[in-house]
Amino acid sequence: MSIQQTDKQYVANTYNRFPVEIVSGKGSVVKDINGKEYIDMGSGIGVTSFGICDEIWQKAVTEQISKVQHMSNLYYTQPCALLAKMLCEKTGMKKVFFSNSGTESNECAIKIARKYAQDKKGKEYSIIVTLKNSFHGRTLTTLAATGQEHYHELFTPLTPGFVHAEANNFEELKAVCEENKTAGIMLECIQGEGGVVPLNAEFIKAVYEYTKENDIVLIIDEVQTGNGRTGKLYAYMNYDIQPDVVTTAKGLAGGLPLGATLLSEKVENVLGFGDHGSTFGGNPVSCAAALSILERIDDALLSEVNAKSEYIFNEFKNAEGVESVSGMGLMVGIKTVKPAGEIVKACIENGVLCLTAKDKVRLLPALNIPESDLKKAIEIIKQALK
Ligand SMILES: *Cc1c(COP(=O)(O)O)cnc(C)c1O
Repeated sequence: MSIQQTDKQYVANTYNRFPVEIVSGKGSVVKDINGKEYIDMGSGIGVTSFGICDEIWQKAVTEQISKVQHMSNLYYTQPCALLAKMLCEKTGMKKVFFSNSGTESNECAIKIARKYAQDKKGKEYSIIVTLKNSFHGRTLTTLAATGQEHYHELFTPLTPGFVHAEANNFEELKAVCEENKTAGIMLECIQGEGGVVPLNAEFIKAVYEYTKENDIVLIIDEVQTGNGRTGKLYAYMNYDIQPDVVTTAKGLAGGLPLGATLLSEKVENVLGFGDHGSTFGGNPVSCAAALSILERIDDALLSEVNAKSEYIFNEFKNAEGVESVSGMGLMVGIKTVKPAGEIVKACIENGVLCLTAKDKVRLLPALNIPESDLKKAIEIIKQALK
């Protein structure tokens, strides 16, 4: 039986995979079982921040894995402590809770918002307001947070206490917050799965001011937008705001599972001993990987991200078969004339892997994608757009 057949028979049917079996890779190029090469414009959905088997990342991982791979959270380990320190120093946040995924980083944020509000304002303050068209994860609670009905239908009842407001409509959001006993507001600065849709800067700023005035916990979901993806370390840094909680995962550890919930001074002590936990959270190998990634997301790297971003936007803005281009940094959505799925298939034929988000082609290349690979991939995508 081929691997594709074995997978189809034994792996749960939740993924409609492309008929491609990847066996290895280096940087932004991956190779399939037949030796065919592809330029990777999706980086595992924004995960392999510095590409496949990047040497610095690989060294950090193998060094840690040959010392100790896991110890549980009953004991101290160096990578966990140093990563928390680095995240705080780079953001001004005060503490970090580590988990294993984006969805878990959001679960922790929701727990914190509720506990903060309930301690301070009363037991009935439990409502979390999120935006329509958002995506916050797949657990029953983060599905409830996700503002897209079609994700909800199959799994009711979801966790109660979530209300969705229109994006970019501050008056409506304010009304929703006032109608409810609101504990927190959670949003993505750029809605990723929702189709690479950036929120208006004025809206984000207004929400920020409102949460400050009303002592509501502001949670920014940076699972996809974080770790250099938008040309700043975190996307919120594009808007002159200071969130109460920032959640991140995807690109944080460059390809190993790690989620982080960053806590500002306001909420740093909301959770106490035993209030929350994770067996794998803060795993030393994942944290060593993340240290090596974060260390490299400096001003030089970010200006490289911004230069490549400008190049990509310019290339697609007026290209044949393109209706519009959205996003920021190396998080790009292309609204195409042809169906996005068709373009992705044609790109696979011609040696490029890209993603979709709603009706758009989505590009999330490695932050350090070599210019030659980027150029080649863009030519192939442009050809498919026509
Ligand atoms: C991917 C994503 C999540 C979920 O992350 P997982 O690691 O798949 O649990 C949550 N929020 C946003 C914005 C995401 O893009």
